[in-house]
Amino acid sequence: MTLYVCGVTPYDSGHMGHAFTFSIFDVLIRFLEANGVRVKYVQNITDIDDPLFERARRDCIDWRELADRETKVHIRDMMALGLRPPDVVPRVSDEITRILAATSKLHRSGHAYRTDAVYFDVDTYPGYGRLSHRSRRSMLLKLRHEDLLGTVGPDAKQDLLDFPLWRASRPDEPAWPSKFGEGRPGWHIECSVMAMHYLGPQIDIHGGGRDLVFSHHESERAQSESLTGKKPFARTWMHTGMVKYEGHKMSKSRGNLVKVSQTLQRAPAAAVRLYLVSHRYRRDWDFDWMALARTTRLVDRLDKLLADDTRARRDRRVPPGRALMVEFNAALSDDLDTPRAVRALRAALRQRDAAAVRAMLDILIGTASLT
Ligand SMILES: [Zn+2]
Repeated sequence: MTLYVCGVTPYDSGHMGHAFTFSIFDVLIRFLEANGVRVKYVQNITDIDDPLFERARRDCIDWRELADRETKVHIRDMMALGLRPPDVVPRVSDEITRILAATSKLHRSGHAYRTDAVYFDVDTYPGYGRLSHRSRRSMLLKLRHEDLLGTVGPDAKQDLLDFPLWRASRPDEPAWPSKFGEGRPGWHIECSVMAMHYLGPQIDIHGGGRDLVFSHHESERAQSESLTGKKPFARTWMHTGMVKYEGHKMSKSRGNLVKVSQTLQRAPAAAVRLYLVSHRYRRDWDFDWMALARTTRLVDRLDKLLADDTRARRDRRVPPGRALMVEFNAALSDDLDTPRAVRALRAALRQRDAAAVRAMLDILIGTASLT
């Protein structure tokens, strides 16, 4: 089974929104693999992106240095949270040749045109907007809100929904030579190229945060299917909800980020991870320090049960209780109902079934430390 999850733009170390998305997909991978399905997992690093360059400019630091530093922070956080590393972690800056080849192919086949940049022609792809269930008006509103609308004109876009595949770089941004002029990729083409190169023209599951459905995934789908003629590009799309703090979506612009590193100073990694996955993946939820503290007390009790069991068990191997595991597996089989799976874990704790607790924790928290 193939899984592609949109990764981070490395310019600000990871917050709980990222950690939620990647922890949910880790539960999915571990659950599938525990049931004999091998998952090939790709998660990219978007090291060519406007917010990264803006931050580098603001902090008077080379964009590569910033990207390297923040990528290290991201990997450190994900290791601490017990995530299985992806099979491939491609970086956009290493994929330029393939991105240019895809851009040329779209240009040759009439799906893209060149004015002040090379734009994808949304009119050539019927069904643009269907993934996000948005009307044209709603798509335009979201683009305007995100400052991605641009302008229409002979030296610009033909249609406001069109988006750049290749564009000129600003003086302090990286630029690569190409037959379309020196420049750099637009935002969406990278994920089409990396997903299809590492996982094939059609992938089983494509994941990411719900804020990516439009315009990123909508555009990725249009580009990929236009490149290969194969539909669907992704058999299943899985989008995680937004994590809020003090009533608002965590975002850099609002400045209400709770960073993974802050939580790890106050709770064991297993508690942070278990707290994250005790929320349903599709829903938005509010980060709450008190709730994290309650999960920490649960993790303490789980740790104590496992320690007592290790001391008492000597050579006996007791299999996990069947009813508990049936309920746990039924929960995760039902659209990855992790809150219900965490309730099964609590039941295993009440019944002092250490083998069941171990089996469930393997999937829910991976290799995150209990202490
Ligand atoms: Zn992506």
